[in-house]
Amino acid sequence: MRVLIIGAGGAGNVVAKKCAMNKDTFTHIHLASRTVSKCEKIRNEIKEQFSVDIEISALDADNVSDTVTLINQVKPDLVINMALPYQDLAIMDACLETKTNYMDTANYEPIDVAKFEYHWQWAYQDKFKEAGITAILGCGFDPGQTNIYCAYAQKNLFDEIHYIDIIDCNAGDHGKAFATNFNPEINLREVTQNGRYWENGEWVETEPLEFRKMIDYPEVGEKASYLLYHEELESLCQNIKGLKRIRFWMTFGDEYIKHMEVLQNIGMTRIDPVIHNGVEIVPIQFLKTLLPEPSSLSDGYTGKTSIGCVITGIKDGVEKTVLIYNVCDHAQTHKEVGAQAVSYTTGVPPVTGAILMAKGLWGKEPGVWNVEQLDPNPFMEEVAKQGLAWHIKELPCGLGELTERRKDKKAA
Ligand code: NDP
Repeated sequence: MRVLIIGAGGAGNVVAKKCAMNKDTFTHIHLASRTVSKCEKIRNEIKEQFSVDIEISALDADNVSDTVTLINQVKPDLVINMALPYQDLAIMDACLETKTNYMDTANYEPIDVAKFEYHWQWAYQDKFKEAGITAILGCGFDPGQTNIYCAYAQKNLFDEIHYIDIIDCNAGDHGKAFATNFNPEINLREVTQNGRYWENGEWVETEPLEFRKMIDYPEVGEKASYLLYHEELESLCQNIKGLKRIRFWMTFGDEYIKHMEVLQNIGMTRIDPVIHNGVEIVPIQFLKTLLPEPSSLSDGYTGKTSIGCVITGIKDGVEKTVLIYNVCDHAQTHKEVGAQAVSYTTGVPPVTGAILMAKGLWGKEPGVWNVEQLDPNPFMEEVAKQGLAWHIKELPCGLGELTERRKDKKAA
């Protein structure tokens, strides 16, 4: 398979290196990004560590015609978009024009509205079908692997699924007072917006980080977790049969929340332009310039991520709850590919999906698909080989109702 990877940040680095580690499948690897020096660094590391040659280019993927020109030159079977959600539609347009398959790990988000929804990308369904090409959306860890855990449970473990709680813990320590594990701008836009979950066919909105729960994570222990809106809820509530409720939880340390709230209170997370010394700047973009890049956190990062899905449903007339999860160690991923575990868990699933496409197991039917609409079984088999082992544990019950509000939030 010939592959074009766009985006040479924390997760793009992992995708490029994992492709190089599967050189029998990926016969040609091309990495393109806005800042070409980042591609050069990754190319040199791949040459040194894996003795594989990859090609690189400078590319601004907001420019559709530049991306079309590069695709025509590289002739990839698949474009893996590891740039930012802002580029999704422009890269999908370039794929349509060149009749090339597409994959990403985060759904489209307009730069001037902090709102991530699938409808912009789902609107490409007919065009991709007519062009005979496939787009696979949200193939990172969450979204991505978590959706596939749910699809696996639906296919193999339950007759009907009623409740899903996606639980995401990073119990690592990067040694910085404040840093985000993936792109700071996207991360802060996600965390500072209202929470939302889906119950009995309706969306229920909460204040940002309004609800909190202590959750016991495998290999990590109990951690304070906060209810967030996350994009996989939107597709899973449509694709899991019999579902009554789905929610998403993420851990944040007190230090992270303190910094985030101060930044928010003083206007540093604003996404609208302000005039500074006669020049228009967007505060959150300036903040991103000051914060450490996700790819720079890897050296010396200790601890683990522990992410999974708590799923309650019926099998053979009996209710049961399972947790399907992965645990990933920051120091080990640094050793393997020079990346922290959040970049690693994001980068391994798209490479796994691409391997399934190369084998003809995924992407047989043209159109635009969320990963849970594809066969989960070969993915689960391959992703464990690629570095993300998974486990299934029976639990006595699910996470139950929302009970604990943060002390500083008033009851609604
Ligand atoms: P980084 O900020 O580390 O990397 C983003 C890269 O994209 C940078 O190299 C950046 O270039 C490049 N880029 C930005 N704009 C353009 C453009 N217009 N044209 C070409 N390249 C561009 O972020 P991450 O690696 O942490 O995240 C990458 C993606 O993965 C994001 O979309 C993020 O939302 C998603 N993600 C998904 C997760 C999941 O589990 N599904 C989890 C974590 C992240 P430059 O260096 O010039 O800024």
